[in-house]
Order: sequence, then structure tokens, then C-alpha cells
Amino acid sequence: MIHRLSQPDYDRWASQIKRTGGCRQPIHLRGKVEHYDQATGRLLHRYTTRTEPNGVLRVPCKTRRASRCPACAEVYRADTYQLVRAGLVGGKGVPETVSAHPCLFVTLTAPSFGEVHARREKNGKVLPCHARRDAETCPHGRVMSCTKRHSAHDQRLGEPLCPDCYDYDGSVLFNAISPELWRRFTLALRRRFARLNGLTVKALREQVMISFAKVAEYQRRGVVHFHAVIRLDGPDGPSSPPPAWATADALAEAVHHAAAVVTAEVKPLGRTFRWGTQLDVRRITMDGDLTEQAVAAYIAKYATKAAECVGTLDRRVQPLDNLDELPVREHA
Ligand SMILES: [Zn+2]
Ligand SMILES: [Zn+2]
Ligand SMILES: [Zn+2]
Repeated sequence: MIHRLSQPDYDRWASQIKRTGGCRQPIHLRGKVEHYDQATGRLLHRYTTRTEPNGVLRVPCKTRRASRCPACAEVYRADTYQLVRAGLVGGKGVPETVSAHPCLFVTLTAPSFGEVHARREKNGKVLPCHARRDAETCPHGRVMSCTKRHSAHDQRLGEPLCPDCYDYDGSVLFNAISPELWRRFTLALRRRFARLNGLTVKALREQVMISFAKVAEYQRRGVVHFHAVIRLDGPDGPSSPPPAWATADALAEAVHHAAAVVTAEVKPLGRTFRWGTQLDVRRITMDGDLTEQAVAAYIAKYATKAAECVGTLDRRVQPLDNLDELPVREHA
């Protein structure tokens, strides 16, 4: 620090750092830019990083992962909040009339892949994890019960009662296929919504647009959930009102149907996946239980989180990774 402070270009360095907004891992750019007048070919402006401190220009990494860079992830979170909020009440070029459009907050869950340790609370009291008086013994000799009242930081939370019974293949494949399952859900939703209103999908598109904003949330057990805002617009998007018959109730009915019927198959393995039976569909209102601020904050929070918050990595596993040396628990 003393060395840096005593450099003649300290001020320039400090202003570069300040403009990265406290980025933990700024990108160091090296190179030059020359602007020419297109008509005359005359050089208008020249910039090179050669004269910058250490010969580099520092720019923020702009990651959205809080585990990589808290400062940039915070910018991303705040931007996402404003974007989602604008989609609900207007702003950022979206007219305020959008707040009158029917809008739902939907949570699609993963199915069960085996019993896992869980922390349950009732009236402020922590309940036993899996208290079963007549608990069965699994084929591996483990009694399928756990009477512990787990603390919120217990590392076993989300881990199976019997790792040998737990369907690890299924849980990994579900995460991999979930984007396809989501895509099919959106198609099935449009089909069902059209049919409920006696229209073809093509005819529906001429009168109603269905818009989605979704985030994935990793659960403790390591499988993804999807949270989505689903909004009805007129044919020209958020600036046009949907027809009167396009109601939130009809949309909710279509969501329930689509979530129940869609499947996605991992063909080479002959396995078919569907959403879990837990489905949450709620209306977003300006003054009710679920306000637009709450929804925007929720979506924005998960937009900056990867899988690290459930004890796995915040990046892809690379082919050359030594799995035994990764800083994760056996379950992850
Ligand atoms: Zn950064
Ligand atoms: Zn337990
Ligand atoms: Zn077992």
C-alpha cells in the first residue's frame, strides 16, 4: 500500500479502482483504441492503456454471483430488482397501466428423490426431523427416522436419511433437464390457456401475450426450484391491455394444468421427469399479501445466487477436477 501510495500515478490508479465500484476481481484490459473520421480518414482520437498505471485499464467483472464478487453482484441484484419491479408496476419504459394486467407468482418444485434431513418449525418451535413411531428399516439396514431437532446450520440438512437409497442419478438428471421441462411448461401453458378460452394457440397470440420472468433456486438437497412471474399482456406487449376474458383465474387454472402434465425424457437413460407435486400459485397485487416489491426482491435475490449456498460449487465441474479434493461434502 505504501508503495502504491508513493507512485506518481496514484491518483489515476485510485480513480480507476473507484470506478470499478469495489470489484473484487477487476478485469485488466490492455490495448489501444483509435477513432477515425469515416469520411476523411483523419485520426480523431487515440487511447492506449500503455500510459495507465501498470499499463492496464481496470474494469468491473460484472459477475452476478455474490460468491465471486459481492460488489458487482449487488449491482446486478439492484438492476434485476428494478427490472422485475418495472414489469409489475411500470417504469424503465414500461407504462404504469401494466400494474392492472393479471399477474401470478408461481413456484415449480422438483419431485422427491428420497427422504432428507429437514428443519421444520411450527409456532416458533423446531420439530423433530423425521419422527416415525413405526419407521421402516431400508434395505441397507438404516432405520428411516431421525428424531433430531436440527439447527439452521446443521450440515446434514438436505442430506438423505440413507445415501444408498437416495436417487442421486434422478436428482442430477432432473437439474440437467429442468430447463427443457420449463420450456415445455411454457408451451403447455399457452396451449391450455388458449383452449380454456376456446382459441387456437395462433389465435391466442393475436390477442394475448404471456410473459415470464424466472429464476432458479437451489434447495438444500441440491435440486432446483423455479420461481416465476407470469403476466398477461395484450397483443403488443406491456403497453397494451389484455382482453377482459384473459383473467388471472384462467391463467392460474392453465398453470395448474400445465405443471401437472408436462414431462421431459432423458432418452439414452429411459428416464422421464416431471415437476414435483408441490406447486404454489399466487396472485401479485399492489396491496395484498404478495406485493410487487416482495416479488421483485425475491427474484433479484436468487438471481445473484448460484449453488454454493447449498454447499456445492459456484461453477461447473471440469473434466480435470479431482472430485475428491473439492471442498464439498459427500452428498454434494
Ligand atoms: Zn466484480
Ligand atoms: Zn434429521
Ligand atoms: Zn437405504
